[in-house]
Amino acid sequence: MKVLVVGGGGREHAVVEALRRSGAEILAVMPNQNPGIRRASKDVLIGELTAIDRIASWAKGQGADLAVIGPELPLENGIADALEAAGFPTVGPSREASQLETNKEFTRELMRQHRIPGLPQFWAFDRMSAFEAFVNDSDVEFVIKPLGLTGGKGVRVWGDHFSTKAEALAYGREILEKQIGGTARFLVEEKLVGEEFSLQAFCDGRSLVPMPLAQDHKRAYEGDKGPNTGGMGSYSDADHLLPFVTRDDYERAFETMTKTVDAMFARDTPFKGILYGGFMATCDGPKLLEYNVRFADPESMNVLPILEGDFLDLCMRLADGNTPANVKFYRKATVCKYVVPMGYGSHPKAGEQLKVDEESIRRVGAKLYYASVEAKGGHLYTTTSRSLAVVGIAADLEAAESISEEALAFVAGSFYARRDIGKSEVVARKVERMQKIREGS
Ligand code: AMP
Repeated sequence: MKVLVVGGGGREHAVVEALRRSGAEILAVMPNQNPGIRRASKDVLIGELTAIDRIASWAKGQGADLAVIGPELPLENGIADALEAAGFPTVGPSREASQLETNKEFTRELMRQHRIPGLPQFWAFDRMSAFEAFVNDSDVEFVIKPLGLTGGKGVRVWGDHFSTKAEALAYGREILEKQIGGTARFLVEEKLVGEEFSLQAFCDGRSLVPMPLAQDHKRAYEGDKGPNTGGMGSYSDADHLLPFVTRDDYERAFETMTKTVDAMFARDTPFKGILYGGFMATCDGPKLLEYNVRFADPESMNVLPILEGDFLDLCMRLADGNTPANVKFYRKATVCKYVVPMGYGSHPKAGEQLKVDEESIRRVGAKLYYASVEAKGGHLYTTTSRSLAVVGIAADLEAAESISEEALAFVAGSFYARRDIGKSEVVARKVERMQKIREGS
């Protein structure tokens, strides 16, 4: 079975590895030479992921049987529609259904119209005068969000990224002038306080099958400081929940996602693919921060290595609209840490050599997933994006975290990684903080 995999990041390396475990032959399309994907593939097409006609005709020439789409940009550009029209069963939503990620206002309106739980208060603006009136009248802390794709870097939170009304107005003006996120319009949401968690699920258009919860770390620096990034690393626990998430939170979050999938079906734009819900556990239950219409990166690297069953079979069933009632995962904890160039998040330093001792990383029991590195003359160098990730997998979080650290010791060069991800004392602080929030103190 030949599978076209679109994307060249850590997420796609994990997808490729899971497909290879079930015997698939990989045809990879990526903008960069990901050495991990390159080695695992039968053939590779290097090029822009939005060159959809070129990708479809390459897939035809190669005799692909199935397509799996990693990133959001080609989905926004209609790659799933084009590949399905060309006869390839595809894991990934249509352009219309991708709006759950590509248009934040679409999602909020859908939730409002269908009375889907987990909706924070929100407002939309396309004129400065209306936003000025809102800011001057408002006495709540809020968050400013461009509507479209910004690589996870467009949202600004009161108290974190700005702290005065003047700064809020300046960012609103900047979004309108520069059309950040693709349009001269933006959302404002009440600021939610709590702990974030990620719930990913397989969806065939009608039914939704959950994966273990994970927690990402979007901020660039330890202690959740610094600018937002594409994600610095993530962890998941052996019971597939998180220490600060109750079963009730989990069920309510899953209900939000199920009702969203029902609403998409009802409006004749069924969602097919991987749905990711980013939630905030609050004193008032879980609230939806955003949807992604694909595996998250890094959280894909927490769930795919512990998938028990046959991923290829699952992908075919997803594409056919026929998911199984449940999908099993090993009861293991995982800790994923990204190696990024120094200065990542503001001024990333490209061109630094990285020495990766793959054999030793394997020996300590960790997974290695490449993302964006440049190979020159037999050596690897950083680019301005995340370089590679290591994932520790073990019976509990503490052991998984220490394996991830052992693995990092086998990467040499000038790089940065958030060492606090998955550390027991850091997770314990999150549990304590969440307890205080629930108690309302
Ligand atoms: P998003 O791209 O919408 O997930 O936002 C990126 C990050 O901004 C989230 O992971 C949160 O850390 C933060 N964020 C987004 N919306 C809110 C909100 N309503 N309240 C507090 N923080 C938020």
